[in-house]
This record gives sequence, structure tokens and C-alpha cells, in this order.
Amino acid sequence: SRQFTRPLNDLANQFNTLLSAVAGAERVFEILDEQQEENDETDAIELPSVKGKVEFQEVSFSYEKEGTTVAGLNFSVKEGETVALVGPTGAGKTTVVNLLSRFYDADKGQILIDGHDIQKVKRSSLRSHMAFVLQDSFLFEGTIFENIRYGRLDATDEEVIKAAKLANADSFIKKLSKGYSTVLSQEGRGISQGQKQLLSIARAILADPSLLILDEATSSIDTITEMKIQEALQRLMKGRTSFVIAHRLNTIQKADQILVLHDGGILEKGTHEELLVNKGFYHSLYHSQLKKEA
Ligand code: ADP
Repeated sequence: SRQFTRPLNDLANQFNTLLSAVAGAERVFEILDEQQEENDETDAIELPSVKGKVEFQEVSFSYEKEGTTVAGLNFSVKEGETVALVGPTGAGKTTVVNLLSRFYDADKGQILIDGHDIQKVKRSSLRSHMAFVLQDSFLFEGTIFENIRYGRLDATDEEVIKAAKLANADSFIKKLSKGYSTVLSQEGRGISQGQKQLLSIARAILADPSLLILDEATSSIDTITEMKIQEALQRLMKGRTSFVIAHRLNTIQKADQILVLHDGGILEKGTHEELLVNKGFYHSLYHSQLKKEA
């Protein structure tokens, strides 16, 4: 599968800059691939397959020379589990997934996938086992076929359509004037925010990764599309280790594990029920914010 090579925060900007700078999706893929090779250790290994066990052991990191952004992170995720990352803006949620996908490397500690220190794994190999579904999905000027196929370039039309069906995207695509051959603009003019997300889910389904990184949308999406997204996400996440930067109570409640981040540390971890019994930060967050949305 193909993945992006920039930290989550810059992904959209970077991708759009590239797309306006060069003509043709193939060239963009080449550039993105070249960037993946940066600074791999000479003896870095490939991971042919990944089951999806993830461990953070005393992980600390700072974007700047001074201070720490996240410190002493310890947690462990079983294969196939869903982890909800919860906490105020600036708590370190994005940083956790930036470190896991090696957009940045930890200053201290280790991150293990299936017991392998990711520092010793080629970035391209690591990311070939991951897919990202982010708030802003990345579309390029090309057909819907091409946009979904970005998840796995050798997929046939039938496989693309199958993924779109599983992502609940097929019905809206079929209603477009040229169906799967409709040409999208980078901004996805003519399709809604929610429909863009369904395309992004289809792309991830096609990529079939063991690890998923999801950044849940904060913007409001109509109820019906939202239900389609939730259902498609359930299908996508099943059997894959998923890290969700979560904003919705529903997602958080269903997670196998919630990590409550605050000031770069894990303040609490557990299931929704466990954290409520604790009557700590999550409990107050739930009563002050989350419950209102339910
Ligand atoms: P969250 O996703 O929980 O909102 P982040 O992980 O994005 O939090 O940010 C954690 C901290 O790191 C914040 O203080 C943020 O300002 C800082 N930060 C994030 N990205 C960068 C960066 N590229 N350079 C410097 N500081 C950053």
C-alpha cells in the first residue's frame, strides 16, 4: 500500500503543494516514495507482515531542542485492539501517532511493533502496514477510480468498486454523472466533506493494512452520512490495530483502551467504564463535554 510521508499536521499542505507543483499523480507518488528513504539506518530491516501488537516503552520526545512534548509514555496494545487517544488540544495525541509512523523519532525509549523496535525498520516498510484516515482526506485531480486506487496501485477496477461498497461510498459514486470515472479536483468540488471521508475509507480498505491511524472529524456532517461513515469505519477497523484521535463519545466508549493524555503524559488509561469509576480527569471530561454530544 502507499502512504503519506509527512507528519499528520503538515500532510494536507504538503500534499497539495506537491500536487500543484508537478503534473500527474504518478510523479507525486515517486516524490513521496523518495522522501520515505530519508535517513533509514543502513541495516534497517523490512517487516514482511505485521500482526499489530504495539508497545510504547518510556517514550519521550520534543519537537524543539529544549523541553519535552511527550514524556515517559508507557502503554501496550494487543493485536486488533482499538485505542482512543483523548485529551485537550496540545496534549500530545497527534505526536503519539507521528512517533508511531516515524514522521518523527523518539528521543528516548522504544516503540515496538510485534516486538520489533521501529527505529530499526525501514520507514517505507513500516508505513506499508499502515493506513491513515484523517480529517481532511487527500484527493488529487483524477478520477474516483484513481483516487481510491491510491491505496493500492495494482488493484483492479473490480477491487476498487468492492472497497467502495464496503466503505458505503458506492451509492453516492454511482449517482455522479460519470460514476467512478468522474474527475475530482484537489478540493473535491461537488462532493461533500462526508463523501470525501468515505473515499478515504475506501482507499484504506483497499490498502488492507494491519495498523490504522484515524483522526476523527470534528466538523459536523449530516446524520445519514455520519451513520455511513461510522458503519464503514467499524468494517475497516475490525481485526486491525487502530489508533483513533477521538472526538466522539461513541467511538471512545467502544474503544478497547482509552489513553487520556494531558501535557504530554498519560494521565489515565483504561476502558470507558474503568475510567468513570476512577472519577479522575476522564470522569470530569465526560461530564463536562463528552456526555453533551451523546
Ligand atoms: P494534540 O494532537 O493532542 O492536540 P499535539 O501532539 O499536536 O497535540 O501537540 C503537542 C504539543 O507539541 C503542543 O504543545 C504543540 O504545540 C507542540 N507541537 C506540535 N507539533 C509541533 C511542531 N511541528 N513543532 C513544534 N511543536 C509542535
